[in-house]
Amino acid sequence: MILTDTHLHTSFSSDSTASMDSMIRQGIALGLETICFTEHYDPDFPDIPSGHDFSLNFDAYYDECRKLADRYAGRIEVLHGIELGIQPHLKDELADFIDQYGSRYDYIIASCHLVDRMDIYYPGYFETWGPQGGLRRYFETTYRNLQIFDSYQAVGHLDYASRYIRGPRLPFHYKEYQDILDAILLHIISHDKALEVNSSGLKAGLDWPNPHMDILKRYKDLGGSRITIGSDGHQPAHMAYDFHRLPAILKEAGFDHYEVYRKQKASQVPLTD
Ligand SMILES: [Zn+2]
Ligand SMILES: [Zn+2]
Repeated sequence: MILTDTHLHTSFSSDSTASMDSMIRQGIALGLETICFTEHYDPDFPDIPSGHDFSLNFDAYYDECRKLADRYAGRIEVLHGIELGIQPHLKDELADFIDQYGSRYDYIIASCHLVDRMDIYYPGYFETWGPQGGLRRYFETTYRNLQIFDSYQAVGHLDYASRYIRGPRLPFHYKEYQDILDAILLHIISHDKALEVNSSGLKAGLDWPNPHMDILKRYKDLGGSRITIGSDGHQPAHMAYDFHRLPAILKEAGFDHYEVYRKQKASQVPLTD
């Protein structure tokens, strides 16, 4: 049973309307012991049809999170994290952000939402590059992102782009991307980071969380041991989504524990059914 959800968004993220209070109350109702909010901050986000800009009011978010963590102390542990959208040209901007605010966060997720400043969520991305070309380009960008930014604990939803491939779902073959995926996984391992297992892949209708079972197995084979777990819920109904399916998936991949970060330090939690 997984009683920790460390990837959650509320109305501090531009693509969520959920109040933080409603998410915490749902976490208690679900019997969760620990939740970590990880609001979006994607510097230099392009204009997109939805109008979301993925900026973040750091102080208001921090204050609300601390206030509610105190209010609900003893009933649920509320941690303060952030999901950073990395892009290869943002080295200085991200360094400034970390200098100013980095130490506030319990947990920092490094995510890739944009490729060449295109939001891969929209059909134009895969129409431009095709399913395999688009996925490869996404991985290459992720790898470049990790070269310019190191102040994080986990790489978020590593194959997130796969859920936005339109049309019939092609089987994923690790071998087609082995060069770039091995490079990413070895980078994560050698830099002592964690790989996030994000159950919103299951919600999107994939057979696996993000990343795919083959990536999880390869990570383990290469020596990876740190994983974190999050639903990426943007509303109460999506918290801890399909978490009951994860222990079997993660054990099949070879893992017997996952990690929770507090003040950016890892605690290990045994994986139980
Ligand atoms: Zn994300
Ligand atoms: Zn997210």
